[in-house]
Amino acid sequence: MASFQSNVEKANSYLERFRRDGVTNYINGEAVPAADGTTFESITPVDLSKLCDVAHGKSEDIDRAAKAAHAAFKSWSTMPGTQRRTILHAIADGIVARAEEIALIESMDTGQSMRFMSKAALRGADNFRFFADRAPTAQDGQSLRNAGQVNMTTRHAIGPVGVITPWNTPFMLSTWKIAPALAAGCTIVHKPAEFSPLTARLLVEIAEEAGLPKGVWNLVNGLGEDAGKALTEHKLIKAIGFVGESRTGSMIMAQGAPTLKRVHFELGGKNPVIVFADADLDRAAEAAVFMIYSLNGERCTSSSRLLVEQSIYNEFTAKIAKKASQIKVGHPLDPETTVGPLIHPVHEKKVLEYFQIAKQDGATIALGGEKFAGPGGGCYVKPTLFTNANNKMRIAQEEIFGPVLTAIPFADEADALEIANDIDYGLAGYVWTNDVNRAFRVSDQLQAGMVWVNSENSRHLPSPFGGVKSSGIGRDGGDWSFDFYMETKNIAFATTEHKIPKLGG
Ligand code: NAD
Repeated sequence: MASFQSNVEKANSYLERFRRDGVTNYINGEAVPAADGTTFESITPVDLSKLCDVAHGKSEDIDRAAKAAHAAFKSWSTMPGTQRRTILHAIADGIVARAEEIALIESMDTGQSMRFMSKAALRGADNFRFFADRAPTAQDGQSLRNAGQVNMTTRHAIGPVGVITPWNTPFMLSTWKIAPALAAGCTIVHKPAEFSPLTARLLVEIAEEAGLPKGVWNLVNGLGEDAGKALTEHKLIKAIGFVGESRTGSMIMAQGAPTLKRVHFELGGKNPVIVFADADLDRAAEAAVFMIYSLNGERCTSSSRLLVEQSIYNEFTAKIAKKASQIKVGHPLDPETTVGPLIHPVHEKKVLEYFQIAKQDGATIALGGEKFAGPGGGCYVKPTLFTNANNKMRIAQEEIFGPVLTAIPFADEADALEIANDIDYGLAGYVWTNDVNRAFRVSDQLQAGMVWVNSENSRHLPSPFGGVKSSGIGRDGGDWSFDFYMETKNIAFATTEHKIPKLGG
């Protein structure tokens, strides 16, 4: 494993080009500034120093990008799937070759520790390989027979699509949305989050070096209210794949309504991990700690509500507090670090406010609950555990999106389900029990798009990913991604000279 010092030196050398040239947009195969020449600053949450200037795209830039994606659509969508497969594998190779650069830059841009970012970069390559292999069969459909008729279904790429991504693990999440779109034959305009724009620029560069034709993938940086909004309103953009907050999702739905945009939303979560007394408590504690304190807790599937059976509540929360107290908070490039600084002072302020809210609501701060004086003095927050909480409290209902866990006791199975489902969100749920019947009953009744039983979030790419209620619309993964990025067409052939109803003479 590389040392802290060598990580710092390498990160500085990789960042040099961005410090010098800034982060440009990328439209029709060309690195370009914003049409009006404006920029905004990107800072690192390690010490709040400026990393670089970023092109501040607006509606004119989105218009150019959408036109480029529209012009490239015909040839990309009709290219044989086997050729698209070759290009997507080459992109995956390019990601692997530059995985260290991607991880170091992502760590400095987002505050996420290298320990997790090095894996996230490689997961990005896996996403490309997975969908590359499905490109040749993406158009396949079914043959449905009726008397005197054969129906044939086939799928076609929907057109140029907009992809809007958030700042948490931005590289990996961008690949998760963009790889299936490209495999389906769509062309792209990507608008990454303004807090973490750097690795999106690397990704499009890697794609073109791998042989992706010009105009297939366009990148416009900017703010949500200008570039993001313009993308969702653009007539040439047929669908929006969005990952971000629930309230932004509802704004996008309204913005896209006049042009009847198809939308796919992966939104917020306040995911319950339900621990019954009969569970393997050591494993349950390890998984709960991992799912809330990894990735700085800035993770949509984090196990942010810990529901524990009353009889083991004190013992179990003490176990969690002990483990969490041993987590190293520090510089994201330090290989020993688990929790780095939160993304931005704006977000840090939001997370810190919940420490006051917890006290006002009458919960106990069993661990943390304050800022951490980390190296560089940036947005560091101590891993935090709230106990003596109930499900009505804001710390139980609202997505805090930091290394902050709210532990709530429950009386029995029915109570656990009642608490777990009494929330607007429904992304993921985790159930810990050694009673197989109960495991089925509880997971069956949990209002969530994804449930893991006796497990942390361990992703299997062919299975569906997404949420219910305010946590999202639609599913990603496997063939579900193609359902979104493609239109299904039915073609009916008459197989006999059937009787046609005669009207008129
Ligand atoms: P956000 O909604 O603030 O921003 C996400 C993106 O939307 C950014 O690129 C932003 O510029 C853009 N945006 C903002 N306003 C817009 C508008 N009016 N029109 C178009 N685009 C607009 O989210 P965030 O704070 O960057 O990310 C954190 C959120 O993302 C959390 O709620 C988290 O749970 C969620 N998330 C969900 C998943 C999932 O799979 N369900 C995965 C990761 C993150």
